[in-house]
Amino acid sequence: ERFNTAVADAAALNAFIVTTPDHALAAADKVDAARAEGEQLGAMAGVPIGMKDLFATRGVQTTAASHILEGFTPQYESTVSQKLWDAGAGMLGKLNLDQFAMGSSNETSYFGNVTSPWKKAGSNAAMSPGGSSGGSSSAVAARIAPAATGTDTGGSIRQPAAFTGICGIKPTYGRCSRWGVVAFASSLDQAGPMARSVEDCAIMLGAMAGFDPKDATSLQMDVPDWEAALSSDLRGKKVGIPREYRMDGTDQAILDSWEQGKAWLRDAGAEIVDVSLPHTKYALPAYYIVAPAEASSNLARYDGVRYGLRDLPDGSGLQDMYAATRAAGFGDEVKRRILIGTYVLSAGFYDAYYTQAQKIRALVARDFERAFEECDVILAPTTPTASFPLGSMNEDPLTMYLNDVFAVPASLAGLPAMSVPATTNADGLPLGLQLVGRPFDEQGVLNAGLAIQ
Ligand code: GLN
Repeated sequence: ERFNTAVADAAALNAFIVTTPDHALAAADKVDAARAEGEQLGAMAGVPIGMKDLFATRGVQTTAASHILEGFTPQYESTVSQKLWDAGAGMLGKLNLDQFAMGSSNETSYFGNVTSPWKKAGSNAAMSPGGSSGGSSSAVAARIAPAATGTDTGGSIRQPAAFTGICGIKPTYGRCSRWGVVAFASSLDQAGPMARSVEDCAIMLGAMAGFDPKDATSLQMDVPDWEAALSSDLRGKKVGIPREYRMDGTDQAILDSWEQGKAWLRDAGAEIVDVSLPHTKYALPAYYIVAPAEASSNLARYDGVRYGLRDLPDGSGLQDMYAATRAAGFGDEVKRRILIGTYVLSAGFYDAYYTQAQKIRALVARDFERAFEECDVILAPTTPTASFPLGSMNEDPLTMYLNDVFAVPASLAGLPAMSVPATTNADGLPLGLQLVGRPFDEQGVLNAGLAIQ
């Protein structure tokens, strides 16, 4: 009774932009053939996954949920998707998302809102699956796909996972190649898995991660066998509780679930300690300068010449084509980010905004370094609220931005961070808890997640 009867059928969720059943079936056939030959099967053999439509997929339309890329069919495959196919996975389809991964509710897609399968007790209002990886969270939560890829720039894996009662991990920046992933804010963008369990996330992350010479920020490090080393025995581990995350406006149910999480980790043998992340309150404003700045630069490439849409009014010249294509092709939120980004990078305002934001970013990273001298992993809520009805935040982009207040600091610092389902609130909606680890310590994050799940 916790699922929304009004959106019980898969199509009504609008989680997919296109479906690619043949791709998934071909993967299944390959598994059959490999098994017949007695060959070793890959870690993802035969698993039909959803692919966030931010990953370039050869021969399959890749839109970033924007009109400006509609009809764009790449000739190449992103490194992460290729690694998943090499591990035996197949693709069910390309999943809807917030346009260019900008948003927290999946309401900025050119292809329409995505709905969560969950419902609020006593109401049939269509609920947000979170964003920007809302097609991924909705499809996995509705059991349409056992797992899906997501990307996280400032919370886009963790917040939708929390809103829909699933798991999602953003690895250390650089673990997963960004090659072939439509760029939003390149110094923050990271791919990761979204799935029903911590175990599934460990397996899928193992298939996605690894050094890629085609991405200049790719980590030159071996990929550990995270699944093999999973353990919920946390004896000897210290879990830090950041006191600055106790913010005004956080739902009581979220605070209660945080307490519950502490108790579970204590039961698993961990010691709970207080830590301080003093620059937390500056992280979100800094993110909303750094991310739009990088976006404004990355999105300059959509000029009507190279990809997808071209709007060439009669008798017009090159500048008119740029203007007409971009005016018609980008949604409002994308335009808002481009305007903010070009403003904060402009000669007159660069020092006042962009330089300051970069300084804050360094301070946020240093906060974590200090905190990790006192603890091994940090436990916090993933979001300050549970999911909300679609449309209820339309007039208030700032409140929407606030939804990522707990997610953004780990993004600025490039740290591995995961959301795992914890409890539900009085409305029966899922709440997630977030674990943040030291750089490269996905294992510590996964293990603490396992103790909570
Ligand atoms: N919601 C945040 C934003 O709109 C984060 C998005 C993301 O992580 N891709 O920028």
